[in-house]
Amino acid sequence: MKVLKTVEAVRAFRRSLSGSLGLVPTMGAMHEGHLSLVRLARERCDAVLVSIYVNPTQFNSTADYQTYPRALEDDLAMLTSLDVAAVFQPTDRIIYPDGMVTTVKVAALGAHWEGAYRPGHFDGVATVVARLLNITTPDLACFGEKDYQQLLVVRRLVRDLNMAVEIIGGPTIRETDGLALSSRNALLTATERSRAPHLNQALDNAARLIGRGRPAPQVLEDEMAALTDRGFEVDYLALVDGATLETISDPKPGARLLVAAHLGSVRLIDNRAL
Ligand code: AMP
Repeated sequence: MKVLKTVEAVRAFRRSLSGSLGLVPTMGAMHEGHLSLVRLARERCDAVLVSIYVNPTQFNSTADYQTYPRALEDDLAMLTSLDVAAVFQPTDRIIYPDGMVTTVKVAALGAHWEGAYRPGHFDGVATVVARLLNITTPDLACFGEKDYQQLLVVRRLVRDLNMAVEIIGGPTIRETDGLALSSRNALLTATERSRAPHLNQALDNAARLIGRGRPAPQVLEDEMAALTDRGFEVDYLALVDGATLETISDPKPGARLLVAAHLGSVRLIDNRAL
């Protein structure tokens, strides 16, 4: 497995390939969620490139950026065992040699939910993804449904900018107790970790009750109150149109439940189809 650190090295690697290339962009601190995307890319492409870059421009809190887990050696060991052709591990200077002057903004989709609670987050995501796609020129790129809004933002970015890459969404990988895998889970205390699965349970309860015909606004209010009782500080729990992310009050095909909540100092997000 090659470890590439410069744009020139990535371009030379790309030119050396005769077959297709799949990109899996990550911020490292790998878990099974990341690895599932690597396997997905490997099934579809002749070679897989994984980028590991903790992108400062998508963090709206310095503390979150500074405490974000980093585990480069473990990451490289995991990827080696998965038939990854190369890892792109750039520095800030490589990605933003002249600062973040040219940016990408996916206006409507990026303004709701995570965009509202984390101002600038999706501008950072869209900008870094555009740069990574232009540097690596993959045939396809894999993103997790765990970050559902991000997946929609990336799909829209690629469509609007006519980028010649297929975006593949991979299912959310969970712990056996239902907690969605996330690099940030490592920051939970033991007590918080034992409470964290309630987030996914709130989604499951809401889906079940709304599916049985209970009014969504009431169900969501009750589930938010239950989460608050269990020590979460809920940013939102919402039923949305799965394509536009607009709030809906009645279920419809493609509807999605989105949740974001703080547990101690850690902010967790999750989602599921209705
Ligand atoms: P991150 O390192 O958090 O930026 O995540 C890199 C990629 O892995 C993104 O496309 C995420 O959506 C995806 N991902 C993160 N957690 C999971 C998970 N539990 N299951 C599937 N994909 C995930």
